[in-house]
Amino acid sequence: MLLTISTTHSPATDIGYLLHKHPARMQSFKIAFGQAHVFYPEAHAERCTVALLLDIDTVGLTRRPHGRFGENFALAPYVSDRPYVASSFLSVAIAQVFSSALSSRSKERPELAETAIPLEAKLSILPCQGGEQLLRRLFEPLGYKITVERHILDAQFPAWGESRYFTVTLQNTCRLSELLTHLYVLIPVLDDEKHYWVDEAEIEKLLKHGENWLAAHPEHESIVRRYLKHLRPLTNQALAQLCDTDPQQTDETIQAAEEAQVEAPIGLNEVRLQRVTEALKQCGAKRVLDLGCGEGKLLRKLLHEKQFEEIVGMDVSHRALKIAHERLHYDRLPENEKKRLRLFQGSLNYRDKRLAGYDAAAVIEVIEHLDLPRLAALERVLFEFARPWTVVLTTPNREYNVQFENLQAGRFRHKDHRFEWTRDEFQSWATRISERFGYAVTFHPIGPTTEDVGAPTQMAVFTQKGQEKHIT
Ligand code: SAH
Repeated sequence: MLLTISTTHSPATDIGYLLHKHPARMQSFKIAFGQAHVFYPEAHAERCTVALLLDIDTVGLTRRPHGRFGENFALAPYVSDRPYVASSFLSVAIAQVFSSALSSRSKERPELAETAIPLEAKLSILPCQGGEQLLRRLFEPLGYKITVERHILDAQFPAWGESRYFTVTLQNTCRLSELLTHLYVLIPVLDDEKHYWVDEAEIEKLLKHGENWLAAHPEHESIVRRYLKHLRPLTNQALAQLCDTDPQQTDETIQAAEEAQVEAPIGLNEVRLQRVTEALKQCGAKRVLDLGCGEGKLLRKLLHEKQFEEIVGMDVSHRALKIAHERLHYDRLPENEKKRLRLFQGSLNYRDKRLAGYDAAAVIEVIEHLDLPRLAALERVLFEFARPWTVVLTTPNREYNVQFENLQAGRFRHKDHRFEWTRDEFQSWATRISERFGYAVTFHPIGPTTEDVGAPTQMAVFTQKGQEKHIT
């Protein structure tokens, strides 16, 4: 299985910096299903080509408990195309061997990583049941000029007709990371025999690598469906999340995290995070979720508390997670700290088994960003399926808004807020939820409190009935 990538950007050998692979060396890497070799068949200032050659361990694969081979008939291992064609294995190898280039990171040439350069990718053998038309529908909207050569089944017997195998050349002027993410997602889309087990983690990978282009691709529905092996519930979830992560909405919600402007004069954000941290500590939680973690301000506080052994931040926005990752200096954390913290993309609108089994969850200034039908989905996702012992949830108290000097009367604190509740509205919602799902609830004002309008933030602490013993 061979993929080559060439550039004529001058000096062309700089592509070696982006790939983190020296043009003069041949390197080999062990991967789960064989070996990946990287080398440069040509390396001049005018043109440079890197080759990724996969040597798949066919014998090893047949021994895998749920290997693809041998499932259908006894000779399957001997007639399989897996070792020779571009398949989902190639995506795994790209992610492992070219990981920094895939995510556009380059220490030596950061500007080049962000620059569109002339690139040409050649896939020596690519299977595609849907034929040339499908190949064009997938790659042309992304700006590729595509050349395909279809192979016949057997040169000695031309009458047998054409095979489903193509040699494909893709040309585009784009960032190397774009080319790699397109290949990462679209090769498994063409591969009908994906080797991987499809679950929520695959949705995460798909949305991460499709972040800046998939939602706008005219074939996004069929890409998602094929990538997730036509599994309808996962496909629906991924398509819905793809709409949730619409870049414009994401931008707005990130800014929403900075409604700080209104709340800053009273230092509300800091007080709120402090009170939430105390509530989480008090309930005795060791494993905690921060749902809608945004840029990770609460996560940073939680990391300082040794009581929390496992801390998970989830957000629907990749951009927010990227910022959190950077602000927490995740890459530079000592190993034992790294083990305590995990960030992943996900939506509170969808049941997600990664959220089950935690002691506590914080949902801080998130619910007011959801339309009411989505809030209804969140209620079940959080209180019925994730079902932590304790939920600490905050939202603005609308009554207090008259106290903010820099907020026009009748306006919400941020334009992305779908609602802001009075104390009564919040308490009756929270009481209804706790009765429905078997929790007890207490309410706590946060920030400067006045008799008439209460405090700017309202916090509810929900405790699962029967688990009160865990509260100290
Ligand atoms: N909790 C953070 C951020 C609050 S802003 C803090 O207190 O600073 C609201 C956050 O909720 C944003 O980061 C937004 O991306 C996230 N969000 C909005 N809808 C979501 C959903 N359905 N699932 C998960 N996160 C969501």
